[in-house]
Amino acid sequence: MSRKYVPVIGAGLGGLSAAIHLKARGYETEIFERNALTGGKMSEWQVDGYRFDTGPSLLTMPEVIDELFAAAGKDRRDYLEFAPVAPVCRYFWPDGGMLDASTDMEEMIAAIAKISPRDAANYPAFMSYCQRIHDLTAEIFLHTPIHEWRKVMKKKFLPSLFNLHRIDPLRNMHNGVRRFFSDPRIVQLFDRFATYNGSSPYLAPATLNIIPYVEHGLGGYYIRGGMYRLAEALTRLAEEMGIRIHTNTEVTQIIVRDNHVKGLVVNDEFINSSQIVCNGDVVTSFDKLITGYPRKKARLNRLEPSLSGMVFMWGVERESSQLAHHNIFFSSDYKKEFQQIFEERRAPDDPTVYVAITARTDATHAPAGCENWFVLLNMPYLQPGQDWPAMVKKMREAVISKLLKSGIDLRGKISLEKVLTPEDFYQLYGSNRGSIYGISSNGKSNAFLRPANRSREIEGVYFAGGSTHPGGGIPLVLLSGKMTAALLDERERNTTEQTKTYERQII
Ligand SMILES: Cc1cc2nc3c(=O)[nH]c(=O)nc-3n(C[C@H](O)[C@H](O)[C@H](O)COP(=O)(O)OP(=O)(O)OC[C@H]3O[C@@H](n4cnc5c(N)ncnc54)[C@H](O)[C@@H]3O)c2cc1C
Repeated sequence: MSRKYVPVIGAGLGGLSAAIHLKARGYETEIFERNALTGGKMSEWQVDGYRFDTGPSLLTMPEVIDELFAAAGKDRRDYLEFAPVAPVCRYFWPDGGMLDASTDMEEMIAAIAKISPRDAANYPAFMSYCQRIHDLTAEIFLHTPIHEWRKVMKKKFLPSLFNLHRIDPLRNMHNGVRRFFSDPRIVQLFDRFATYNGSSPYLAPATLNIIPYVEHGLGGYYIRGGMYRLAEALTRLAEEMGIRIHTNTEVTQIIVRDNHVKGLVVNDEFINSSQIVCNGDVVTSFDKLITGYPRKKARLNRLEPSLSGMVFMWGVERESSQLAHHNIFFSSDYKKEFQQIFEERRAPDDPTVYVAITARTDATHAPAGCENWFVLLNMPYLQPGQDWPAMVKKMREAVISKLLKSGIDLRGKISLEKVLTPEDFYQLYGSNRGSIYGISSNGKSNAFLRPANRSREIEGVYFAGGSTHPGGGIPLVLLSGKMTAALLDERERNTTEQTKTYERQII
């Protein structure tokens, strides 16, 4: 085994990214993944001629993936094909209104005008506002480890730091959207982007209005063959680089002495290492893998987790209907929906329903005459007393009756079903209380409260993934792996030779 060894816990996208970046920087690394499949929440289910993505369905900021392949000396196009999706999403409202969202400015103005001409006129100004937030924040918040003050206080960031008031941090996202739009349906359409990082538009800062720009301004993509092709391609890339990936292999302990990491326990073996990257959820990893640190654990457990979700994967007899690849059926009272999710922590009475059908783009994902429906509802994170089997039953009925009101009759047409609840997200991926995007942004300072990529308490422990900076979602977790690898490398260069562990030693 060569010098500079770093084990990685977890082969989610953040773990794969960290391992690839470390290897590209000359580290010897291997990944321990407790599940049979790599990719973590990006996973796949195939049965009876159907293929489903069980996690992400929309890709934004694809250039982050291109950069990851380039860092490994490869061309992404040799592994993956990205396809823009048009419409980027089809929206349905309970009053019968419908809108096809487009990444083309003129088409989007025309689409909004059919619902609200006054709001259509304000769309360019809204997009400029969203772009301004993006331009002022992207480099500093998405590409820099913001907990490292020396990296933030750099000359190139001074314009951003002096202009922080222009990123709208004090208003909530909903009020930021309402400055531009008055029709409740258009407000709801843009409010929904808060859920992209698992938050409520009524609680998250208006700075999150960066997200509509990322999707509408920069574009939303599908990965040909299914989103899981990304996890598969990164796994292949890692293995081609010589990174060993041990699936079905759980890390059961991170060993710490005197606030320095000493190694890991895997399959009852101790693996000696003075630096590790953990892609598992930060809160769960502290709670389950690390002994001691009660104050840190209490602090982490006080942070509010993001939204969770309920997923129905349905094999459906093809509806001749008006559906696109991505579809949203809005609830009639959005505020109440978020109140029931975040305050009452129960399934909403009237859920907003997201339906993704990859068979609309890749016909081979379902048998002839059928479709693979991925139906996602926002759900509360886990708390004692919730009755998930009862909530699944209630939500299945709610979805079917909601779609019926929009003229889509699923009765007797669902021949296959698999359901995922917040309990499954906890069991399958160890995500904190079943949340799917780490810590929520339901607060003005949550971007700073999110756990750092480099542990302050334990020297040599690094985190990569959605529960650490810069947050959840495909591009962000990949960036998190990149930042983590860079931080670790920097520390390695600044550490004296005597204190380093160079070899993987099983004791
Ligand atoms: C239903 C759903 C829909 C989503 N939709 C989108 C979308 O459309 N677009 C988008 O960009 N994002 C979406 N996301 C979010 C996105 O999937 C996640 O942010 C991202 O995949 C998380 O990656 P991660 O690196 O944090 O790791 P995870 O995916 O959480 O993976 C962590 C890995 O670590 C492993 N692990 C944990 N502990 C141990 C241990 N002790 N030993 C060994 N292995 C361990 C786990 O098994 C897991 O494989 C969605 C997520 C879900 C669930």
